[in-house]
Amino acid sequence: MSNERQFDIDDSKANHEIMSALDDVKLLRNLAYVNGKWVSGEQFRPVLNPANDEIIGYFTQLSQQQISSAIHAADDAFNGWRKLQADQRAELLLTWYQLILDAKQDLARLMVIEQGKTLAEAIGEIEYGASFIRWFAEEARRSYGETIPSHIADAQLSTIREPIGVAGLITPWNFPSAMITRKAAAAMAIGCTVVIKPASETPFSALALAELADRAGIPDGVFNIVTGQADTVSHVLCQSDKVKALSFTGSTPVGKMLLADAASTVKKCSMELGGNAPFIVLPDTDLAQAAQAALDAKFQTSGQDCLAANRIFVPQQHLSQFIDHFATLISKLKVGNGKHSSTNVGPLINHKAVEKAQQLLNDALIKGAVVAAQADLPAAAQANGSYFTPTLLTNITPDMAVYREENFCPLAIVLPYSSLEQVIEMSNDTEYGLAAYVYGHDIHQIWQCLRGLEFGMVSVNSVKMTGHPIPFGGMKQSGLGREGSRHGFDEFSEIKYCCLGALPTVSGS
Ligand code: NAP
Repeated sequence: MSNERQFDIDDSKANHEIMSALDDVKLLRNLAYVNGKWVSGEQFRPVLNPANDEIIGYFTQLSQQQISSAIHAADDAFNGWRKLQADQRAELLLTWYQLILDAKQDLARLMVIEQGKTLAEAIGEIEYGASFIRWFAEEARRSYGETIPSHIADAQLSTIREPIGVAGLITPWNFPSAMITRKAAAAMAIGCTVVIKPASETPFSALALAELADRAGIPDGVFNIVTGQADTVSHVLCQSDKVKALSFTGSTPVGKMLLADAASTVKKCSMELGGNAPFIVLPDTDLAQAAQAALDAKFQTSGQDCLAANRIFVPQQHLSQFIDHFATLISKLKVGNGKHSSTNVGPLINHKAVEKAQQLLNDALIKGAVVAAQADLPAAAQANGSYFTPTLLTNITPDMAVYREENFCPLAIVLPYSSLEQVIEMSNDTEYGLAAYVYGHDIHQIWQCLRGLEFGMVSVNSVKMTGHPIPFGGMKQSGLGREGSRHGFDEFSEIKYCCLGALPTVSGS
């Protein structure tokens, strides 16, 4: 790690809003972080504030050769890092964890400006992201192997868990901090070094984590962030035989491409991909409570959440009452710049996302959907920024894209069902299988849902389901592997089996 460096964003490149939002302006970095140094490519790319379309700064684009150098640095650092005692790695990670919590307000304000989420959501993400660092630092001290009752005479059989090597981590913009720490903390705690490619919409949140890792004293080469053209960076990571594990969070189509690209080097791949979560309201539920929960599960992060309640299923006999409750709640939502404490729903990530939301809405309306309620869109939000008003649609049919696709925007859809068997079948009728919600009291019906739903995570009577101790991940085309919990180490480690036989005793000795 270098001790002294020049601050690398001058005022002409970073805008006033972002500079004045930070107490500690050195958290704002625009160069890549490789082998403990800030590295510049030849090109720079702008980042926009989705709340007002202003350029907030520029970040560097590394060349193919510079990305390869980062992989080499991580590979060189691997042996030293893995040989530290788990306690020593844990102490360094806990220092990083504490620095992140100390900088929580700055990191959250940075995220609001770069990503658009509300300040409350951003603070929640920083705390959530940091919690993985503490969890894995502590878990590393307990990453035990096993002893195995032997089937071979006089042999001792055991397993050791070993770090896999350099891990390539590719992350999305919707959780620009936590998707990095959820992977990096597990990888680093178990003894891997990491090369991270953050999303190009949100590089500054990632680079701020690197600044704090540097201050925490994480050794050079252990934590690297490479920014650049998506296909270039990803291809170099996938093709490198020094990269032993690839962990991706993002869309299912990109995940499939990366799996194919990584096949030639037979990497261990873990994939956290898209979702199309059902939200099942059981017949005995309090409808007002269920409507509030469904609204919360739908509009977090402006609907740009892999856990978003994409399809809300309500018993036919309760449909109109549920819609009334939901409509009242949606009309009270305040849309606007996430920095204002009154805002419930911030902008979408960019104008392309707004266009996609509009296309989904148009497709649904042409096919017979009805707008049952909408939030207001203030004049300021109509003039600038990537806003889309939270909307409730009814009269939904399965041929509508908004029903089949992960809509990833503030479009909520409500559908009726007539039996539990039918709603479980409708819920499972998707290639996705990440998360599902169930609201109700009847334990028999809840159990039928828990067993029948083909989703990696099923939450009953709770919108909040994720956190450091749980195995986060999906079934079907929502992914491979799990993050968080004790299972999070599996993606970054190998189980080595050791057979310790006894040499025959030499006679006379
Ligand atoms: P995305 O378009 O798949 O991008 C994710 C990452 O892949 C970014 O770093 C992106 O780089 C890179 N990428 C994009 N196109 C690529 C290509 N052609 N080749 C190589 N790399 C490429 O996803 P997103 O829009 O950022 O995120 C939204 C998706 O992530 C949703 O589907 C959501 O459900 C999913 N998600 C899943 C989880 C989970 O835990 N299961 C959590 C959060 C999000 P650039 O930014 O530089 O283009």
